[in-house]
Amino acid sequence: MNYSSFNPPVRTLMGPGPSDVHPRVLTAMARPTIGHLDPAFVSMMEEIKTLLQYAFQTGNSLTLPISAPGSAGMEACFVNLMEPGDKVIVCTNGVFGGRMKENIERAGGVAVIVEDAWGTPADPNKLEDMLKIHRDTKIVAFVHAETSTGVLSDAKKLAEVARRHDCLTIVDTVTSLGGSPLKVDEWGLDAVYSGSQKCLSCTPGLSPLTLSERAVDRIKKRKTKVQSWFLDLNLVMGYWGSGKRVYHHTAPINPLYGLHEALAMLQEEGLENAWMRHQQHHLALRSGLEAMGLSFLVKERSRLPQLNAVLMPEGVDDAILRSRLLNEYNLEIGAGLGALAGKVVRIGLMGYGANMKNVMYCLEALETVLADMRAPIQKGVAMNAAQSAAVLN
Ligand code: PLP
Repeated sequence: MNYSSFNPPVRTLMGPGPSDVHPRVLTAMARPTIGHLDPAFVSMMEEIKTLLQYAFQTGNSLTLPISAPGSAGMEACFVNLMEPGDKVIVCTNGVFGGRMKENIERAGGVAVIVEDAWGTPADPNKLEDMLKIHRDTKIVAFVHAETSTGVLSDAKKLAEVARRHDCLTIVDTVTSLGGSPLKVDEWGLDAVYSGSQKCLSCTPGLSPLTLSERAVDRIKKRKTKVQSWFLDLNLVMGYWGSGKRVYHHTAPINPLYGLHEALAMLQEEGLENAWMRHQQHHLALRSGLEAMGLSFLVKERSRLPQLNAVLMPEGVDDAILRSRLLNEYNLEIGAGLGALAGKVVRIGLMGYGANMKNVMYCLEALETVLADMRAPIQKGVAMNAAQSAAVLN
């Protein structure tokens, strides 16, 4: 068998990520590969760190991208901050809190779960109650933007509670960075990781990470070695730090060009403007969906603009809907996960994809296919509703 080049279909990515990658990012990634210790590359690494500090709103000197996807950023936080036997409270309200628990247990820690229903935010009062019971807790972990349900939790309040009980925080911002307000220093967050493929409009495979001085201090005082060689931040910092660089791994050169470009674009737009753009396009999409007669899983006050979990009308097979959208419209939207499988679809408006063209395209395709599937929806009103909401904003 002889294989030739792979030419992917051109899709519109409106699922839970990856999202549409900006052409400027793809162009940057096609530039010539240079050595990872080349002075030109090293100065670009420094710029990435500064740009990430801006995106995270932090002065933390330990701010860098891990050379692996968001899951590696999650694992890096747990294996560096925790030691075997440490107790960690995890606020769980969807898939990713469950993964945090796995990380803790595999690293020899004790996970205590504060559970909230899928589709609702993590409750700071429940966290406080649990911290009063488990006074030996060292770390509190939670997901700021839960991609499996489209819920935003109040990271500032959760971190305040954790600090009152002298705990460090590990915060998942894979879906929030660049899309929703996130202020690492102002909110006093300690170990915060993200992903490149959502609201940053970059390709998957990199995990921006930032650690507060308190978190760095915890790592310095460890009594045991970090169990993972690749994710040991002491070693990673030897490579990404500002002094003389020591070879650790060969950085993914071209993906880092892409991240640099994506972050430079975020700076050009302005962080607040990017947050606002996500919100405005969410409001347009919401008006269109509601005019059609569809509704949301999550209550308005904790709804993520960049991830819309939409309830499926009675009798609609979401798998058929999604595959028709993909095959007939080249449009990808996401399935419900876990208990929400078959009950919702997830529509992403992330990064570059949070624009009016995508909102209108998605509404038109959804309306046509749902009507063809004989779903009980209102026809011919969604686009006008979205357009009016966009004008109002
Ligand atoms: N955390 C959240 C909230 C996510 O949405 C994801 C991916 O969708 C991850 C962690 C894992 O990131 P990755 O798939 O890049 O490893």
